[in-house]
Amino acid sequence: MKDEKPEAKVAVRLRQVCKKFGDMTAVDALDLDIRDGEFFSMLGPSGSGKTTVLRLIGGFELPTSGTIELHGEDVTDKAPFERNVNTVFQDYALFPHMSVLDNVAYGLRVRKVGRAERRERARAALDRVQLGKLAGRKPEQLSGGQRQRVAIARALVVEPRVLLLDEPLGALDLKLRREMQVELKELQRSVGITFIFVTHDQEEALTMSDRVGVFNDGALQQVDTPRGLYTRPNSRFVADFVGTSNLFTAKAATQRYGRDTEFTLRPEQIVFGEQAGAGRSSGSGEVLSVAYLGATTHVTVRLDDGTEIVALHPGGGDGIEPGQAVTVSWSDTDVVWLPDNAA
Ligand code: ATP
Repeated sequence: MKDEKPEAKVAVRLRQVCKKFGDMTAVDALDLDIRDGEFFSMLGPSGSGKTTVLRLIGGFELPTSGTIELHGEDVTDKAPFERNVNTVFQDYALFPHMSVLDNVAYGLRVRKVGRAERRERARAALDRVQLGKLAGRKPEQLSGGQRQRVAIARALVVEPRVLLLDEPLGALDLKLRREMQVELKELQRSVGITFIFVTHDQEEALTMSDRVGVFNDGALQQVDTPRGLYTRPNSRFVADFVGTSNLFTAKAATQRYGRDTEFTLRPEQIVFGEQAGAGRSSGSGEVLSVAYLGATTHVTVRLDDGTEIVALHPGGGDGIEPGQAVTVSWSDTDVVWLPDNAA
């Protein structure tokens, strides 16, 4: 039985996948395994190749070279409809003249499923996204968040093993976006299929994902859990892109790789005031700005060597003013060296 093979645990496997558009290399020798049943996000700046990778998995683009497997089967040259995946696009692509129910049932009609079963399965999919009551409406009579749910129900109704989502929350306002992030994650858990989610929003990727792949310039810079990316970034790029970056350059006295190298510290690991002791380091500088964010306050400090860092102030910024001289300190065990930059 196929499901008993070890490779059945991998939903999507890319090996040495390249995609060129003319002379432009959009994806470069990519190796990636996405596990069956995980919520996997592809995160990266605009133009880093995330959407191209999603389209390659969906079969909307063919790789210039390399192979793509879905659940152990080589699908490199197969058309989208021959792959057990479905896609939710950012613009939802709903049919305006059809009711919500008919929109959701559409994929079943194409697959020649009978009318009664179509309606039953479409209703079940709508219930799953809490839209059962709106089955008779037209898309234009729905809010943005409701349309988004219809698009997801329509993709799920054909029971794909992998769902591809291309920035599906991009058109929503921030509050709704946060709500939908939680809903989508819960939905993924309840249906138990693999979700592959493209976003350029690091907070979104960290909130929702089991693992995140960070893309930079057509290549994967790091694949890790959200916690792993945040606490153990493997490069300047990831440290800078995920969370608030604090990049220090270690000078001769502390250098680790025989030359100046960089390290990072997260804002919450930096405390105000000299707290001397074994295993601690400190620096002095000047407060540049204080950003009160409600639950937290970010204080930007320019250290004497010119490095600008952000520290979290537990007292809500009380007593801290721009221009003030301050000392900050940290525990050496919280320092994350960025070995990529020493190469
Ligand atoms: P965004 O977040 O802006 O969608 P992305 O990380 O998803 O960006 P891609 O859309 O994958 O990036 O694009 C990667 C690179 O490939 C970009 O430089 C883009 O201009 C180029 N590219 C993508 N599709 C095509 C195409 N059909 N023809 C030519 N170049 C393309």
